Amino acid sequence: TLDAHPSGRHFLQIPGPSPVPDRILRAMSLPTIDHRGPEFGVLGQKLLAGIQQIFKTRHPVIIYPASGTGAWEAALANVASPGDLVLMYETGHFSSLWHKMATRLGVKTEFLSLPGTDDTGLPVTWRNGVQADLIEKRLREDSSHQIRAVCVVHNETSTGATSDIAAVRRAIDAAGHPALLMVDTISGLACADFRHDEWGVDVTISGSQKGLMLPPGISFNAISPKAIEASKQSKMPKSYWAWDEILESNKTGYWPYTPNTNLLYGLHEAIEMILEEGLDNVFARHQRWGAGVRAAVNAWGLPIQCADPAVYSPVLTGVITPAGVDADAIRRLIYQRFDMSLGMGLGKVKGRMFRIGHLGDCNDLTLMATLSGAEMGLKLSGVKIAGSGVQAAMDYFMAHPQQSGLRA
Ligand code: PLP
Repeated sequence: TLDAHPSGRHFLQIPGPSPVPDRILRAMSLPTIDHRGPEFGVLGQKLLAGIQQIFKTRHPVIIYPASGTGAWEAALANVASPGDLVLMYETGHFSSLWHKMATRLGVKTEFLSLPGTDDTGLPVTWRNGVQADLIEKRLREDSSHQIRAVCVVHNETSTGATSDIAAVRRAIDAAGHPALLMVDTISGLACADFRHDEWGVDVTISGSQKGLMLPPGISFNAISPKAIEASKQSKMPKSYWAWDEILESNKTGYWPYTPNTNLLYGLHEAIEMILEEGLDNVFARHQRWGAGVRAAVNAWGLPIQCADPAVYSPVLTGVITPAGVDADAIRRLIYQRFDMSLGMGLGKVKGRMFRIGHLGDCNDLTLMATLSGAEMGLKLSGVKIAGSGVQAAMDYFMAHPQQSGLRA
């Protein structure tokens, strides 16, 4: 309970929802218009073209008024049939939830992973990215092509590993397998490089509340011609999620139901902001923040959850707390003393780690404040840290100036 409203802005440093820029908040505050009127059709067509640039695709992007979980279900329901086999890969909590969903939908699944736990006590597979060679091996064994789709998470938000999707594409091609490639980049889009067409992704799933800097409530399926063909054969019951009627309405910029108009105003603004900055600058900005935050964690002497530097996430960093220290108690203290929210350990790593989000509408000073809050929280919780992460991050940011988006 609070005596009074805390002064200043709350620090929302979880890996999504991310802070929403004022420019987007203002855009969303405009009056709601008729979703079947002429003005809306113009907005719809502009949006549908703009979002293709963010996914780097020339093919349709379906926009759902749903959280990311809805778009996961839509992706499976549109291409699979009950009893189909899909090959999934366990990188953490979100890939596990998607796997659970597939089984609940009546799809047969195989869940690849790396075995065992390491000296931190955490599952090895929750500290690494997707191993494309394991996918290739399994696909080669499937000579009768029973596997309908390969499903992977690009940026695993529960761990901070960003998998190499081009390598997964190469693995499928090397095995000569016709499986569809389905990729969740709910927390990767507009933070980490993502190329739907170039990487031959058939269905890309994403959401509004991460790199797009919007509130939760919109999610996406970017779909290849091969995915559209597969949807015509799919026997999974669906109606609301079905792509066909949405694609038909989208031709003129409308939806077959009432879309969330004000969130779409926000999406329009977000696309403008991201394209004004340039996607490559957006990616470089997140990479640099990730490096600065990791410099801090290294200086604290705490393990970064992602054990493979090749797949460090530019979106978030998972910090493993010493055995016997409850990471959730540290987060609670930081929330109460410094009005900052950090991400909790989910599923198999609950209480063993916390997550620092470095995505969207941040800057160097936001992250310096974030790291000082985390460092004070660690010290106040009695965690022995090796040195000052705040100093290390300042040193990193001073030595590596941001290359674009600065004031003249
Ligand atoms: N997949 C990933 C990688 C996520 O990070 C999330 C949410 O954080 C989801 C799926 C689920 O999306 P939502 O919570 O919007 O339904």
